[in-house]
Amino acid sequence: MIVVEYIKKTFGFIRKNPGILSSLVLLVVIPAALYYNVKTTVDAFTMNIDEIVQSQVFAAEKMLGVFVVEYPEKAVLQRKVDSVLQSNSEIEFIEITGGEGAGYEPIVSTTREGRRISTDTAKKMRELSSIAWAKNSEGIGFDSNDNGVRQWNVIKPLHNDEGDEVGLIRMAMSVGDADELSRRAQEQAYYVLFGVILLVLILIVNHTRMFQYAVLFGKLREIDKMKDDFISMAAHELKTPVVVMKGYAELLQQAAAKLTEEQRNDRLKAIVSYADNLMSLISDILDVSRIEQGRLVLDMRDESPYATIKEVVDTIKVSADQKGLALEYEDKKQTEPAAVSIDTKRLRQVLINLVGNSIKYTEKGTVTVMTKVDKLHKRFVIAVEDTGLGMSAEAQRSLFQKFYRVKTEHTEHIAGTGLGLWITKAICEQMKGDISIESMEGVGSKFTVTFPLVDIKPQPTVQIG
Ligand code: ADP
Repeated sequence: MIVVEYIKKTFGFIRKNPGILSSLVLLVVIPAALYYNVKTTVDAFTMNIDEIVQSQVFAAEKMLGVFVVEYPEKAVLQRKVDSVLQSNSEIEFIEITGGEGAGYEPIVSTTREGRRISTDTAKKMRELSSIAWAKNSEGIGFDSNDNGVRQWNVIKPLHNDEGDEVGLIRMAMSVGDADELSRRAQEQAYYVLFGVILLVLILIVNHTRMFQYAVLFGKLREIDKMKDDFISMAAHELKTPVVVMKGYAELLQQAAAKLTEEQRNDRLKAIVSYADNLMSLISDILDVSRIEQGRLVLDMRDESPYATIKEVVDTIKVSADQKGLALEYEDKKQTEPAAVSIDTKRLRQVLINLVGNSIKYTEKGTVTVMTKVDKLHKRFVIAVEDTGLGMSAEAQRSLFQKFYRVKTEHTEHIAGTGLGLWITKAICEQMKGDISIESMEGVGSKFTVTFPLVDIKPQPTVQIG
């Protein structure tokens, strides 16, 4: 399971950062190229050695062939064969035999001390003797493995001056030293290969880490930019209501007597409304720091959510009316009773934010609040749908990030902090809820929040009499 998770994460990371693919390609390509290089070099080396050994065997036989014809005495021949064996450390065995009529029987034979030609090889040499004779050729060669050492064996006819076959020479030459040499070269090459793979791996891990830092750095810069935007916007949002409130307050202070009662009330209402905006901005900022420091305390109770939803819809209806928008809500308190574990105050905040946004980002049409009891998933669903600006798929991906605001020609004159949805999501999640969005640019948006359903408490029964 852990491995599957890890693989999934890795693939996720690669999909998000395709630049890392070049490192992975390097990880495969560099060792593969090195391996190919080592293998072809070693193979060529082995082939080369085999060819050298074979030609050495043939050269030794050529020399002995001449000798057999010139000095047919057995003792002289034996000495010569012995001395050839001694002077050539790779020759393991030499035997000179008679020809066909002599039944290919050995005339002289010598084997290096401590070595023994295996019975299989000896048998094969005997078997091939008649073929080598009949073929009247350059000879027959085969390789064998005698006691763990690779060996080249050759049987070749010997000729007199007239070119007639006078006998056979059988020889075995060890390729052990050459094999040992190529084995060591191969071993060394594999060590180097292993070292290079390790080095490439370390480099790639480093590169990946640097890559992650680069991604992180990019994100930090983005957040930094958002923060800058937020600070200039917050300063503006904080200053504007204070300036307006101060203006109205001064007017009331200096010229209250000159104003009618209605004018005084209008100014006072405006001051209260600006103070409310200011407070909501300040409480958003405080909420952010509470959430970030894990200090958001919830008062969770099992409650019916309907009363809170209705209260929010009723309160906010004024803003919808002011913009000429219809705000629709069907209270299903009686038809679909439900209970959820929530902090009512925070649910109110979530709904004010979502319905408030729908009104804020909708020019004309309708904002609809819907509820549904999803018994299958044991969730209570609240959806807020509007016929407003909507947003692109790209904007939807970043929507719940802190300070994120969609920047289009339609939104640039609408004030906001980019904190509302981030706070909303954090609150929903802390209440074990969830939030999602479906939206289409120019058509509208639908925000859906869900909370786990809890069992409805039986109504207390009143005993009469
Ligand atoms: P604010 O509204 O203060 O900018 P939010 O976090 O509430 O911050 O929203 C973030 C951004 O999401 C907004 O700036 C806006 O562009 C976009 N948005 C939110 N709700 C809607 C909606 N109902 N319709 C269109 N855009 C929306």
